[in-house]
Amino acid sequence: MNKYLQHYIGGQWVDSDGSETKTVINPATEEAVSEVILGTAGDVDKAVQAAKKAFPSYSQTSKEERLALLKKIQEEYAKRVPDIAKAISEEMGCPIDVASTAQSGSGLGHIASTINALENFEMVESTGDNRVVYEAAGIVALITPWNWPMNQIVAKVAPAIAAGNCVILKPSEQTPGSAQIFAEVLDAAGVPAGVFNLVQGDGPGVGTALAQHPDIDMISFTGSTRAGIQVAKNAADTVKRVHQELGGKSPFIVLPGTPLEMALPAGAGGMLLNSGQSCVAPTRFLIHKDQYDDAVKMLADIFGSKAVDDPSKSGEHIGPVVNKSQYDKIQGLIEKGIEEGAKVAVGGLGRPEGLDKGYYVQPTILGNVSNDMTPAREEIFGPVLVVIPYDDIDQAVEIANDTPYGLGAYIAGDPSVAVKVAPKIRAGSVFINSGGLDFASPFGGYKQSGNGREFGKFGLEEFMEKKALIGDIPS
Ligand code: NAD
Repeated sequence: MNKYLQHYIGGQWVDSDGSETKTVINPATEEAVSEVILGTAGDVDKAVQAAKKAFPSYSQTSKEERLALLKKIQEEYAKRVPDIAKAISEEMGCPIDVASTAQSGSGLGHIASTINALENFEMVESTGDNRVVYEAAGIVALITPWNWPMNQIVAKVAPAIAAGNCVILKPSEQTPGSAQIFAEVLDAAGVPAGVFNLVQGDGPGVGTALAQHPDIDMISFTGSTRAGIQVAKNAADTVKRVHQELGGKSPFIVLPGTPLEMALPAGAGGMLLNSGQSCVAPTRFLIHKDQYDDAVKMLADIFGSKAVDDPSKSGEHIGPVVNKSQYDKIQGLIEKGIEEGAKVAVGGLGRPEGLDKGYYVQPTILGNVSNDMTPAREEIFGPVLVVIPYDDIDQAVEIANDTPYGLGAYIAGDPSVAVKVAPKIRAGSVFINSGGLDFASPFGGYKQSGNGREFGKFGLEEFMEKKALIGDIPS
């Protein structure tokens, strides 16, 4: 079993003040894969002190020095991709091929995008006679989830240190392994002591201590809306800046008359990637009433032929969902949908045939769904898709927006119509005939999907303060 029993603080691997640990279960085997220390408020304070010690000198380093550091991190990260992929696959069940490419590759994508953003960023702007200077926000806490663990860690750490901040990372207690390897990468790259600190632990312990710590200036959180609200409340007393990347229930609108074979396979593939455990997955398919029955049938064929198998095997299959509580929650939501009148077009309750161990969920299509039913409203976070009919495009927009979330939306069909629909959708990203993220475009949510933006220059700016320099300024 892997043991992650120390934190990385002030450039050293150090013991915790506490002794409580959590055992991470491999969701494919239901066997223990890692043991992680659950840090304490005392550990958080040590990390904050280390960050404060490093800040005066690190925050004054030049753009060139930080670019050189990011390039060194890029080099060291590339060497550890196989280790990162293995840790991700074993701890959260992502198939090894996806863990080796999209999952671990996203870290390299964010480093490259941050380097490009910093190279082109103007640190000083003129406002007529006066100036605006962009500076580091200060001591920054970063809290991340398990579903795309490296994507979220690097999307925060790279821009935060590029902007001159000193950071404390608390990764998900479900995926401590990839976070530990990432700390080893930064150590090998020569990141100065105290600039990057890792405190392993859970939300109620380390997460709360970070949100409440008076010497932390900003907190950047990715996770559920439930925990994001808690973080904001805990941060309020010390007036921290709170950046939140939260849940989603993204609509996939197929414009009327769009050939289904052009729209559905790509959308369904995006939904199934990572076993439906992506915040921006297209989880509500909205189909014109004339094409509805054909669409449900085609989606059932696609989902029905998707293999579900051991994530340690190479291949096109999906793996299990992350843990037992998530498995149970998904089963409960399918059941609730059936009770409310949804029809299972494929999949349904229980494990896929032939799998009697592991938290495997059947790829499931729920038809006959209206947008007020529970599985259409709640984030399921599994390979379960609801299909909702609409009468005309105005109604499709209304249904798309009828959700507390606003992270992403997808439009499939004539692009000249799609660009006219896109401004009516209240979501941070609209993907037109495309499912892919762009690491240089802003990523973030409207409504209860969060506030603030990540990726590229938008992520970099998020971690900065703007200082006004007014008066007698030499040119
Ligand atoms: P989660 O909210 O349970 O945990 C996320 C992180 O927050 C973990 O590190 C956890 O330990 C910590 N945490 C939990 N409670 C906390 C508290 N009270 N105070 C401080 N920290 C706390 O979420 P999860 O299950 O790890 O991840 C899945 C969720 O993340 C989904 O809702 C998904 O949509 C969301 N997500 C959002 C984005 C985005 O960019 N918008 C990206 C990925 C995942």
